Amino acid sequence: MAEIVIRNLRKEFGGFTAVKESSFTIADGEFFMLLGPSGCGKTTTLRMIAGLELPTSGQILLDGKDVANMRASARDIAFVFQMFALYPHLNVRRNISYPLVSQGVPRAEIKARVAEIARILGIEPILDRPVGGLSAGDRQRVALGRAIVRRPKAFLMDEPLGALDAEFRERMAEELRALHDRMGATTVYVTHDQLEAMQMGDKIVVMNHGVVEQWGTPQDIYDEPATLFVAEFIGSPPMNFLRFDEAIPEGATTVRLSGVEIAVPRTKQATTGSKSVLGVRPEHVRLDDAAPYRGVVVAAEYLGTTQIVTLDTPSGLVKARVASSLAVRTGETVGLSFTTPTLSLFDAASGRALA
Ligand code: ATP
Repeated sequence: MAEIVIRNLRKEFGGFTAVKESSFTIADGEFFMLLGPSGCGKTTTLRMIAGLELPTSGQILLDGKDVANMRASARDIAFVFQMFALYPHLNVRRNISYPLVSQGVPRAEIKARVAEIARILGIEPILDRPVGGLSAGDRQRVALGRAIVRRPKAFLMDEPLGALDAEFRERMAEELRALHDRMGATTVYVTHDQLEAMQMGDKIVVMNHGVVEQWGTPQDIYDEPATLFVAEFIGSPPMNFLRFDEAIPEGATTVRLSGVEIAVPRTKQATTGSKSVLGVRPEHVRLDDAAPYRGVVVAAEYLGTTQIVTLDTPSGLVKARVASSLAVRTGETVGLSFTTPTLSLFDAASGRALA
């Protein structure tokens, strides 16, 4: 079992703060994604979990025990540095068994464990081949095998698929996820790719400028973004943001957008200033002739079963994902309506969600 609790974790490099008072919990067996743009502090967070970097303050509880200042080797966590870091002159069997040999594990046990790993990864036929001549996919499997064979409490991976081309990347992502589901070991995975995070993760923590913006299931984060940053970072095409001047009180159920009343989910807090932002995902915009909020069609992008229609509205450009069968003409004025429970409302000043 390996539950990892991150509590008020902070890391400074000289005068620069890379990670600010971060807190989140990785449950036992979870596939957990650290997601955010370049420089947001993902790798630093992962390196602190691994023990490769000491935190300035805060706790890292591994199964309830604070390991924040413990040596990396004492943590029983495997850091999968780079999938391709193998010994090219050794064969597959030797590459996989290497960590066990150096730990002094008895020969018979090494043999049994390597056989088990080879079966799990489907690489039995290539066990005696040198890794130098293997395909990229097989090399990746061997590198994984070498990390798994130690049976660590948890795996840490930093953009393991980053160097791969798109098609192969997708296949390896599926394999990694399937492997995790068979083994059930807690996995912490760094990526800047929101789609990869959504597809693979049980949970995601979204970081920005060293701050945890939100953490939860992919669905929580997609449906109920806690901040404007998260709302914008997740989803493609991104959420539409309709900015307007209105102070919204706690408990509000409507807002006025260019004079048109729009029903919104009941707000749980008030805005801090006088500006607000209505967030609506493209798939939740309906083109509805009877709707009083109007826009002019400026473009339509055909995507097969759906199309992305761009509309010029009084609050700026809005993208709608609608059925391709819906006839739209550039230049025509149409009504837009929104599915109320799916709307997000933000305080423009703080960027925090109000509902
Ligand atoms: P990337 O995807 O680009 O690696 P990241 O989210 O993983 O980004 P980190 O590598 O954690 O970001 O870096 C966070 C910030 O801390 C960056 O601004 C980086 O320049 C800085 N940083 C990281 N390591 C050090 C270091 N050893 N000394 C000084 N600054 C550092």
